[in-house]
Amino acid sequence: MKDCVFCKIINGEIPSQKVFENDRVLAFHDINPAAPIHILVTPKRHISSLVEMNSSNSALLPPLFEAIAEIAKAEKGLKNGFRVVSNVGEDAGQTVAHLHFHILGGQRLDMKMG
Ligand code: AMP
Ligand code: ZN
Repeated sequence: MKDCVFCKIINGEIPSQKVFENDRVLAFHDINPAAPIHILVTPKRHISSLVEMNSSNSALLPPLFEAIAEIAKAEKGLKNGFRVVSNVGEDAGQTVAHLHFHILGGQRLDMKMG
């Protein structure tokens, strides 16, 4: 989608530090990490957030979770555990309107969710 930062990363217009890629998923390091390991996992097909999910597009979710499992096994710093987060909308602080899952890890994480 035009003017979507993550679509631009996916099509190579904006560089990224890639961690994982297949035909449906791209994962790359967050430019402003909130933890020692902070990876974003995103579908190559544009969808704005989880609130857009329905029976016509939900097939894009399993490859994202399969990628998360692959990344978790490949990244040594995630061996002890990690957190997966997807922000939806303004109250959650979503800043990029292209569905993505944050993988956060590499240290004991704060339990505060709100
Ligand atoms: P969210 O606030 O959940 O929408 O997450 C968006 C994330 O994208 C933030 O953690 C940003 O630091 C990250 N981000 C924005 N632009 C880039 C970029 N060009 N490369 C890597 N990460 C980015
Ligand atoms: Zn997009």
